[in-house]
Amino acid sequence: MSSEIKFSADCMLGKLCRWLRICGLDTFYSRRINDPDLMVKAQKENRVILTRDHALFNICQTKNLKALLISHDFFEDQLKQVFRELNIHPPFIISQRCLDCNEILQRVIKSEIQDQVPPYIYNNQEKFYQCPICHKIFWPGTHWLQMKKKLTQIFEE
Ligand SMILES: [Zn+2]
Repeated sequence: MSSEIKFSADCMLGKLCRWLRICGLDTFYSRRINDPDLMVKAQKENRVILTRDHALFNICQTKNLKALLISHDFFEDQLKQVFRELNIHPPFIISQRCLDCNEILQRVIKSEIQDQVPPYIYNNQEKFYQCPICHKIFWPGTHWLQMKKKLTQIFEE
């Protein structure tokens, strides 16, 4: 169940959105989408709307849309609220998704991306992944370890 849950975050929740994606959760986010479109998309794709906006939350309630009113300022607390209220539990998959596009990353053959990553990284990493939309290359290096550590910290408190 928890692995299939999907979100639509309002434009005030950019940082929370990135961390949900870090946790492997499908999270739609756009700075340009308006509230009616956000609600239509969420309903069509069965997404839980995450919002800091009381007015939007109230409209969601009257329309019977799944929504969660985020009551905290910091993403650590926001993340905890989402996981607590929707009953999602660690461990998480770290960065299965592109943090910019929300797209599932695809494994790529190392030799094919040699000219796209720094030589030091190329020589020290075996597994590389690419976003099918923005073509950014990812690898499970220190950055992923740091994110994992941060998540452990957040949920141990
Ligand atoms: Zn991307």
